[in-house]
Amino acid sequence: YSIRFEGKTKLKELDELAAAINCLTEGLAEQENLRKRLTVDVAHELRTPLTTLASHLEAMIEGVWEPSVDRLQSCYEEISRLSGLVSDLERLAKTESDNLILNKSDVDLMVIAHSCYDRYEIEAKKKNISLVIAGSSTIVHADKDRLSQVMENLLSNAIKYTPEYGHIRIEVRDAEESSIIMIEDDGIGIPEQELSLVFERFYRTDKSRNRKTGGAGIGLAIVKSIVTAHGGTVQAESSAEQGSRFTVTLPK
Ligand code: ADP
Repeated sequence: YSIRFEGKTKLKELDELAAAINCLTEGLAEQENLRKRLTVDVAHELRTPLTTLASHLEAMIEGVWEPSVDRLQSCYEEISRLSGLVSDLERLAKTESDNLILNKSDVDLMVIAHSCYDRYEIEAKKKNISLVIAGSSTIVHADKDRLSQVMENLLSNAIKYTPEYGHIRIEVRDAEESSIIMIEDDGIGIPEQELSLVFERFYRTDKSRNRKTGGAGIGLAIVKSIVTAHGGTVQAESSAEQGSRFTVTLPK
């Protein structure tokens, strides 16, 4: 940055330079804060299953508890949770890296919706949830695997947060300049004041925090970074006790 020492011009350029430096330092401080928060969140998420595992195993080793299939099963479940968390973190790191490589081709969102349906049909059936697909073919130039992940994350959430005998609808359709994916359920819903927060890493609504079924709160952060990398947007809507609707809009 060069500064010419000529009266007012000099002052103006100095102001601009100061503003540019301030902006840069603010950005760096924000990044640093995010990094710190992420470390704290990860540590917190790891601690819970590790504490349970350590106390269960300790009790069995010291003879306070008889080893039983049930107790070993619960240790195994904690290990599965840990390994799920590590996979989620890996996926999040990959999708949030600046150089997220999108392997783009022309893909039909309806085809992705059907394969996603096939993958989750049994899980929905286990809860007697009715799962339907509506809409029509719509082609986007996008990364097929990443968009499958977007739909899978949204659909698995819909199943997780919808009680037995609920309803889930996947809709894919063409809009003027864009293609739309919509996944709606009539499950527990999201309180209005938390709608904008659910896309943040590790955020879980108060309602789902106490539930056993919830994950670590990473799925929607992954959805958002994939959709943003495609130049699209994702939006959550919900009305109290009436379920949730997630809408992904992708440019054609
Ligand atoms: P998690 O692994 O906890 O499901 P996500 O990032 O996928 O994490 O979602 C973040 C939070 O958003 C969830 O913990 C839940 O509180 C809320 N949420 C997401 N999808 C739904 C839904 N379909 N219905 C109600 N709440 C939802």
